[in-house]
Amino acid sequence: MIPIAKPYLTEEEAQAAYDTILSGWITQGPKVKEFEELFAGYTGAKYAIAVSNCTTALHLSMIVSGIGPGDEVICPSMSYIATANSIKYVGAIPVFAEVQPLNYNLDPEDVEKRITTKTKAILLVHQIGMPADIDAFKKLCDKYDLKLIEDAACAAGSAYKGKKIGSHSELVCFSFHPRKVISTGDGGMITTNRKDYYNRLKLLRQHGMSVNDRVRHVSDKVIFEDHLEVGYNYRMTDIQAAVGIKQLEKLDWIVEERRKIGAIYNEAFKNIEFINLPIEKEGYFSNNQSYSVYLKESCPIDRNDLMQKLLDEGIATRRGIMTTHRETAYKKIQKDINLPVSEDLQDRSIILPLYVPMKDFEIKYIIRSFIELIQPANVGMESHY
Ligand SMILES: *Cc1c(COP(=O)(O)O)cnc(C)c1O
Repeated sequence: MIPIAKPYLTEEEAQAAYDTILSGWITQGPKVKEFEELFAGYTGAKYAIAVSNCTTALHLSMIVSGIGPGDEVICPSMSYIATANSIKYVGAIPVFAEVQPLNYNLDPEDVEKRITTKTKAILLVHQIGMPADIDAFKKLCDKYDLKLIEDAACAAGSAYKGKKIGSHSELVCFSFHPRKVISTGDGGMITTNRKDYYNRLKLLRQHGMSVNDRVRHVSDKVIFEDHLEVGYNYRMTDIQAAVGIKQLEKLDWIVEERRKIGAIYNEAFKNIEFINLPIEKEGYFSNNQSYSVYLKESCPIDRNDLMQKLLDEGIATRRGIMTTHRETAYKKIQKDINLPVSEDLQDRSIILPLYVPMKDFEIKYIIRSFIELIQPANVGMESHY
């Protein structure tokens, strides 16, 4: 059975977790601080704040951006549901905009049409690791005086115009869930260049506490903490951070390996006329968090049929990225939403397995099965791979 994804974890990560457990400090402490400094250095951002996951990273980003009840935030419906949920958490309204068919990312023209006097921010997703056009959205935000928040849950290791994701705007949120490119079990990170955001985010993730445990622990003076505002417990543990430090060391290598596999798929499928493959334009660098193929109308096999037949052959796939407005939780509260491009992409796309390390015979088997099922007349063309 070939799974859709696998985290790349080694003895090194296991040893780091083991050592941390026996160090006597297991929740947010020195390892979290080290992971944050390394992550900020990696992305080129001034500051990084580790949190429990990307959903809580997004929630805190909404709060520090001053978004509250009645405000509108424009985001894609085509994203993991946590994107829109983070807007709901602060009482604001997610306004869903369309994505572009060839990269699954927000369409700046469609976003501009949806800006109203209530719009406070754009929540930009770098879907399946492919960067969105950040500059286009920065321009819109400047023009209409909006905040830009990046949902980079899938995009650790991706880059836009020569700079790593995490360094382009005021608030960028990452995930370390096992389905992403590097993992700490669960976990998240916010990068920012703003000192005021950095200070407030540190308070909010730990109950609004004025002095954290690590600082009190190393102080030679008695310190009493105060709780400056109503905060949350959104901490990352030191056990997770120790694993994260080891994962971060491997990130660029993992991304290179993922890109090699993506390139093999692209080469193998490039002559099939009724599918669209991922397109990486000049200036865009994807970490290939997922490999998604779009089946055009002319495709002789139905998407769901193809998924079942691949599963019968021992190959797990996933349907296209979800659309939030078609989930029950959102159908109940936001009616009459019409997003034909997003719906079509969800219905006609299929995500193929991609993980590190992937064996040559696995890649060949997936390619052969996919081509045979989708294009029975051309069996034999896979022999080059
Ligand atoms: C995975 C994901 C999230 C949620 O990340 P968690 O760390 O699981 O909270 C949010 N947004 C997008 C686009 C995602 O893919």
